[in-house]
Amino acid sequence: MTDPGGDRPELPILPYERREAHVREWDPRTAEIAATIAAMVRRRRPDLVVEHIGSTAVPGLPGKGIVDLSVEVEPGGIPGVVEALYALGFGPQPGPDPWPPTRPMVVGAVELGGDEFRIHLHVQPRGGDMPRDLAFRDALRNDPELMRQYTELKTEITGGHGVDSFRYTHSKTTWILGVYKALGFRVPAIQPPATIGILGGGQLGRMIGLAARELGYRIVVLDPDPDCPAAAVADRVEVGRYDDIEAARRMAAGCAVITYELEHVSLELVRALDDGRVPIRPGPYALKLTQDRLAERRFLEANGASVAPWRAVSTADELRAGIVELGVPLRLKASLGGYDGRSQLRIGGSGDVAAAEVLLAAESAACRPMLLERELAFSAELSAIVARGVDGVARGYPVGRNVHDRGILVESGVPAGIPPETAEAAVALATSLATGMGMVGLLTAELFLMPDGSLVVNELAPRVHNSGHWTIEAAATSQFEQHVRAICGLPLGATELRAGGAATVNVLGSGPDREARVTGVEAALEAPDVHVHLYDKRHVFERRKMGHVTAIGPTREAALETARTAAATIGWDGH
Ligand code: ADP
Ligand code: MG
Repeated sequence: MTDPGGDRPELPILPYERREAHVREWDPRTAEIAATIAAMVRRRRPDLVVEHIGSTAVPGLPGKGIVDLSVEVEPGGIPGVVEALYALGFGPQPGPDPWPPTRPMVVGAVELGGDEFRIHLHVQPRGGDMPRDLAFRDALRNDPELMRQYTELKTEITGGHGVDSFRYTHSKTTWILGVYKALGFRVPAIQPPATIGILGGGQLGRMIGLAARELGYRIVVLDPDPDCPAAAVADRVEVGRYDDIEAARRMAAGCAVITYELEHVSLELVRALDDGRVPIRPGPYALKLTQDRLAERRFLEANGASVAPWRAVSTADELRAGIVELGVPLRLKASLGGYDGRSQLRIGGSGDVAAAEVLLAAESAACRPMLLERELAFSAELSAIVARGVDGVARGYPVGRNVHDRGILVESGVPAGIPPETAEAAVALATSLATGMGMVGLLTAELFLMPDGSLVVNELAPRVHNSGHWTIEAAATSQFEQHVRAICGLPLGATELRAGGAATVNVLGSGPDREARVTGVEAALEAPDVHVHLYDKRHVFERRKMGHVTAIGPTREAALETARTAAATIGWDGH
């Protein structure tokens, strides 16, 4: 084969910047750039064949205008190729979710005729996705109908505006995977009895494990406590903290997919496991966004969701200025690590400022700014739970209505008793956020329904959620099974409510910290439509989540009444 670049002069590779995605007309200069870069690479590495892929490789197809190039390399040769590309002037990939080192992408830019063109150069291991990418390109080059559909989709996603490039990419997933499938490249599902690794062995891990077991999967868990609730359903518990990378690696050995049951696992740990061999679903980006309340607020605003007016505060001066600007009542929340109402404080008036300053001082000593936000007078708290599969297809559950007491969820029920258009808007919002973070798995959006009918996002959880426990008995597919299906690449199940109403009431601990001995289960089960779930936590203490009761009834109110009565009979050894 002759050198495709001929004698054309080399183009200097300039630094790359991440930008919003704007869809523009195909530019013939992109083909010229691709040929030039291919020649530059081949001059240094005659063993490499640089293919032009992506939208700019299809004459006439509109796109972001980024020139995608790809080389296929023996896996062991990847670091050497990356070095050679760095020497040419390319740099590492920035952005929220870079490709792993086992399948890297280097980036750069060139200038031509006064315009800047960005370049993505993919380095693919032999045996990877390169044949599929070429087949996709060739199908688009040869099939005008396919090209028309793709053009329409791109225009629809951007609506003529710029959108976040991550959202842009994930909005195309379903259509692209459909084409791949038609071309004979399907993403294989993870089949039972493969092993699912769960970071965190609490009650959520336990219930994911139970659902996974029903489908025939095996389970390993990472948890600091060998007697954690998930231990009973796990083939193996790797004992280690949620930041113990070595223990996590031991857990991951032999897993086909890894998930997490809480957002408080360390991001470094998840990144360390994300080496391109075993998928982590949801990925590190969803974790990063949802474990840090400030990152989450920024993501929500960037994705068009409403949030309570807020400030990031690090110093007492910023706190005082924020209190004046936002007006009381306010909530001051730790950016990292809060749950069940912990690590947050209500500022109702000047009398609370001293306590707020103490909390802030502790957080800022650890160099963590806090989230200060206005307390909203909502008319109800809602949960929108959606699952998004590997193929980008999402399914939402009926919206639930929640009641919290001092920051801890006490009850959830369905249907929420809201207008159908509000329920639809809540599911659409959660679906759009799931797409925007490239979720694979369940996403729960905790929402405030405002008196004017609008929806404000309080917080996101990239996982199964306490407010979805009613789905075990009352939905066509439980949230736990749905999560397992999503992360294993299986089709998602139906989500409808299979009764007039359903409700879950949490069973909380009471009394001092001591060995847990439950009482009242028999009485709770007197009512036939009641289901008691206990998490087998070895110790009980005041307000610890020990279990839950779900009841089914003709309405949410009736189910709630039954569930409350049953939950009230359950106690802990004298309390
Ligand atoms: P956690 O991570 O502990 O669940 P949240 O931010 O969800 O923290 O707060 C717990 C509960 O506190 C919420 O479900 C809600 O009842 C109440 N809350 C939190 N922030 C606000 C707010 N800005 N306005 C009104 N209520 C709030
Ligand atoms: Mg919450």
